[in-house]
Amino acid sequence: MIDPFGRAITYLRVSVTDRCDLRCVYCMAEDMTFLPKAEVLSLEELDRLCAAFIRLGTRKIRITGGEPLVRRGVISLFDSLGARIGDGLDELTVTTNGSQLVRFATDLRAAGVRRLNVSLDTLDPEKFAAITRWGKIDKTLEGIFAAKAAGLAIKINAVAMKGVNEDEFDGMIAWCGEHGFDLCLIETMPMGDIDGDRTQQYLPLSVVRSRLRKTWTLEDTDYQTGGPARYYTVAETGRRVGFITPMTHNFCESCNRVRLTCTGTLYMCLGQDDAADFRRPLRAGVPDDELDALIVAAIARKPKGHDFVIDRRENRPSVARHMSLTGG
Ligand code: SAM
Ligand code: SF4
Repeated sequence: MIDPFGRAITYLRVSVTDRCDLRCVYCMAEDMTFLPKAEVLSLEELDRLCAAFIRLGTRKIRITGGEPLVRRGVISLFDSLGARIGDGLDELTVTTNGSQLVRFATDLRAAGVRRLNVSLDTLDPEKFAAITRWGKIDKTLEGIFAAKAAGLAIKINAVAMKGVNEDEFDGMIAWCGEHGFDLCLIETMPMGDIDGDRTQQYLPLSVVRSRLRKTWTLEDTDYQTGGPARYYTVAETGRRVGFITPMTHNFCESCNRVRLTCTGTLYMCLGQDDAADFRRPLRAGVPDDELDALIVAAIARKPKGHDFVIDRRENRPSVARHMSLTGG
């Protein structure tokens, strides 16, 4: 699948649920309302859509959410997609808050997952509780170490927030180095209504990177994971640190991915509202060839880039839907 701007679309991110056991302040309001179950695709429907994408050239699938591991029976989807690795699919990965990893790490490994991203914005238990509103850091840390013990490579994702965790990145690089994890820092994106004010939290990663250079030697690398991060090797630890900078740097030129929500809506861009609905055709019994044609037609509408801007006067999200729906 080649989009109108010549980009090969080989990466599908699938949000398998909009629900979550946490309420991170930048992601959700505390009293989030979730979708009625009838609107959410069954795991079989999600599997069928993923199979169509693989048929059309998708090489990498990332399962996300909401919290993907709170969806009942989700391992069956991992098993079925994992069986396609080496048969169309190169890689199956997952982004999780880690709270369920003690239960599921070995199942994920058995399904064929080799790497996972765990979101952890702080190593301070009190800050963790404040950021996630409902979370306990021990549960996440136990999950991370269960995943490591199961033989999964781990990347820690941290959203950089001004005045919240900006003093912790040196400590997190050291901690990741000690345990053999990569670290990826992410800028806050203006998506979905939340309770607070985003403009006050926004911290450009260009600033963070120059600060880190005072302590660490960041060596250029051409390492790529198929995602939008720019990676460096930290000479002192041998591990990598990545920066995802949707706000300070336009990361759209090399965009190779599209996002499927748990309701069967395909967003061709994280930062735009245009979307294609697949639930209706799926539930109307669309045959495979027509399904493929609908996907190809949607890819042909992929826009050139996002319009993210953190509006200081209006304090409005530039994209109304929450990250938990589109899946980060
Ligand atoms: N629940 C899982 C987790 O937290 O890893 C997967 C879904 S979560 C929506 C995916 C990623 O998006 C997380 O790393 C989270 O920190 C990030 N995220 C959520 N809202 C964001 C926002 N407004 N700006 C930047 N990153 C955000
Ligand atoms: Fe849940 Fe992940 Fe959103 Fe936090 S970032 S509320 S863990 S979906």
